[in-house]
Amino acid sequence: MKQIGFIGLGTMGRPMALNILNAGYPLRVYNRTKSKMEPLMAAGAQVADSCREAATGADVVITMVSDSADVQDVVLGADGALAGCHKGAVIIDMSTISPSVASEIAVACDEKGVKFLDAPVTGGETGAINATLSIMVGGDADTLESVQSVLAVVGDKITYMGLNGSGQSAKLCNQVICALNILAVSEGLAMGEAAGLDTSKLLEAVRGGAAGSWILDNLAPKMIARDWAPGFRVTLQQKDVRLALEAAAQHLLPLFGTSAAHQVMRVAEAKGWGDEGTQAIIKAVKAIADRL
Ligand code: NAP
Repeated sequence: MKQIGFIGLGTMGRPMALNILNAGYPLRVYNRTKSKMEPLMAAGAQVADSCREAATGADVVITMVSDSADVQDVVLGADGALAGCHKGAVIIDMSTISPSVASEIAVACDEKGVKFLDAPVTGGETGAINATLSIMVGGDADTLESVQSVLAVVGDKITYMGLNGSGQSAKLCNQVICALNILAVSEGLAMGEAAGLDTSKLLEAVRGGAAGSWILDNLAPKMIARDWAPGFRVTLQQKDVRLALEAAAQHLLPLFGTSAAHQVMRVAEAKGWGDEGTQAIIKAVKAIADRL
């Protein structure tokens, strides 16, 4: 079986790496904060001292870190994955980053004879644990074909979007839809509270109708219960919306609603709720109206 290197064992990366290990792939992991490698080591993975070492000898290297600059660091840095990869290896970045940065990294990899796929995901921590992620892939179609069996271990829906960068573009479209939906659910519940409604009853009344959505089903109950534990952190959602707005600007496409959602997320961060789950955005909506 292919030797796999895996870099970035956060909320998403840790369960994804475990699924790869449990599928029988030889796995070497690296995480900047070393203690996060312990559960993987206990499960039988090898651990590396650097991204470069995690990639050495690997047929496939998966990166799951935070933002564009982080992927540039872990792939292109002096001790990065590309420095350890042999010709013909495939690097798959599954983080959510800028489409143009993904394309630039692909070019740098190509110059060293290494293939690069941008393959961001949706489905959250639950999808990562249950291996039910939806994966949007940009890059060479033959390269995707060569790693399809590895991706199938972490996700159950793999969609080929086109050239490098198009996987990230698809993910940013997804995040625009999610961000506006989170704001919509937050405003709907805030309005219900302001009108003196029982918001649990309100949720039951509307969830089966045209207002129904994944966000309503999964985040509204947490908003009502005032459960702010992450899931998907406000800071990461804000980052994704910022990336979407930057990409839209490159296309000269105004996104009014997305811009408004971004500002509300900035309020949540300014209030100190950046590390809470995205359901905490309702607190920002209420704080703006001085109704917290
Ligand atoms: P997370 O829990 O914050 O984990 C981030 C991981 O990246 C950590 O292992 C962190 O290492 C590592 N990292 C960040 N910057 C680094 C750098 N410069 N060098 C080395 N390692 C670095 O984030 P997550 O929730 O797993 O999300 C990971 C990616 O998936 C993000 O792009 C996010 O937008 C995307 N995503 C997340 C979800 C979700 O529901 N959480 C869903 C879909 C997509 P340390 O441990 O040392 O900090």
